[in-house]
Amino acid sequence: MIDLHTHLHPPKLFAAIRRWFAENSEWDLGANPTEPHAVAAALRDAGVERFVFFSYAHKPGMARDLNAWLAATSRDLGGYGVPLATVHPDDADCIRDLRDALDAGCLGLKLHEDVQRVHADDPRFDGVYAELASRGAFLLVHAGAIPWEYVPGAGIDRVTRVLERFPELNVVVAHYGAPDSEAYFAAMDAHPRLHLDTTMVFARDSPVRGDIGAFDAGSIVRHADRVVYGTDFPNIPYEYDRERDGIAALGLPADVLEAVMHGNAARLLREAEGARA
Ligand SMILES: [Zn+2]
Repeated sequence: MIDLHTHLHPPKLFAAIRRWFAENSEWDLGANPTEPHAVAAALRDAGVERFVFFSYAHKPGMARDLNAWLAATSRDLGGYGVPLATVHPDDADCIRDLRDALDAGCLGLKLHEDVQRVHADDPRFDGVYAELASRGAFLLVHAGAIPWEYVPGAGIDRVTRVLERFPELNVVVAHYGAPDSEAYFAAMDAHPRLHLDTTMVFARDSPVRGDIGAFDAGSIVRHADRVVYGTDFPNIPYEYDRERDGIAALGLPADVLEAVMHGNAARLLREAEGARA
């Protein structure tokens, strides 16, 4: 399987993020590693064949250093983990920042609306999205303030506006697009490059799960090429296997399960890497 949604951060930033969780949430993340080789080893032990990781620039002036660290970390891991870049719209030239990150080995861009205090459809990202699309790289966007707030309709309008402007861009919406998962599924016919990742949604003990309600396995079967396995490891307050177990419990047909756990992510990575070759 391929895990399309994990996190690695430079040590100081990771310590600050752990402090934030300790002070602002009930989540117990203590048992999970943060050092890149230790995170990679845990994923390898869990049977992960490849993983995608990212961080985020929550303020201007840090994206370039962060991207350099992400690319160097991927090289250090022998390419087992592949990074997504970060940009900040208040930086002088975020298109150049992205271009340099893609040249250094990043396969796409992670945007986190809540942490970065940005909107996905901010016109300042237009050049960034055009660059991503032209290079086959993908956008992974955390839309809205989940899991801290569940405001229906808060993110999907912005995401579909991006897809309307950039129909060639592969877009993955984090956390299954909660709480608008069904609306995202409904938008998939009009937007053939719209995907959802499973991150934190199917694990039995996940704090995100309870707020989403019932799952319709039929939606996944009908859009089997658009759902991608992801976990948020190592920032999860439960064991790694829980997400996979929760997905397995849906009873999906074998070919659909294979697409979710492996095939769809492999295709996204292939498009991004193919464009590099
Ligand atoms: Zn995440």
